[in-house]
Amino acid sequence: MGQKYYCAKCGNINTDEQQCLGCLETKYIKLIPEKYISYIAGTIPMLNKDLKEEFIENVIKTSPDFDQSAWDRRIHWEEYDDNLNNKIKQEQANHPKCPTCGSTNVQKITGLERGISVATLGLFSKKINKSFKCNHCGYTW
Ligand SMILES: [Zn+2]
Ligand SMILES: [Zn+2]
Repeated sequence: MGQKYYCAKCGNINTDEQQCLGCLETKYIKLIPEKYISYIAGTIPMLNKDLKEEFIENVIKTSPDFDQSAWDRRIHWEEYDDNLNNKIKQEQANHPKCPTCGSTNVQKITGLERGISVATLGLFSKKINKSFKCNHCGYTW
């Protein structure tokens, strides 16, 4: 089973012990104690959500290496990233791009077209459940 690491300085959860992705330091990476780990699908280690607060209070914030300003900075950037990701997602929803060729020359498949596709190609047509069609390469998704 894999293991999960945390940074004692900024509190970031890391998947390896090479470098903290929160503060870019390498010397404060520590192994998360087994009791705070839960495994997704039995194999992928994650910080146990139910014990997250306890882990933060009892392990991270009591560590002599803990740095409140590094913690705050990390939280700030995470929120910044989240906002940025949401923005990008929104923009992609407004200006869809073909996942195959990257063309922005795409059209929405309308309910009518989907209906036609069901009528002419059968219920298992690939077009059902797809909402876009690329005019460049013909891919639908
Ligand atoms: Zn860190
Ligand atoms: Zn395409």
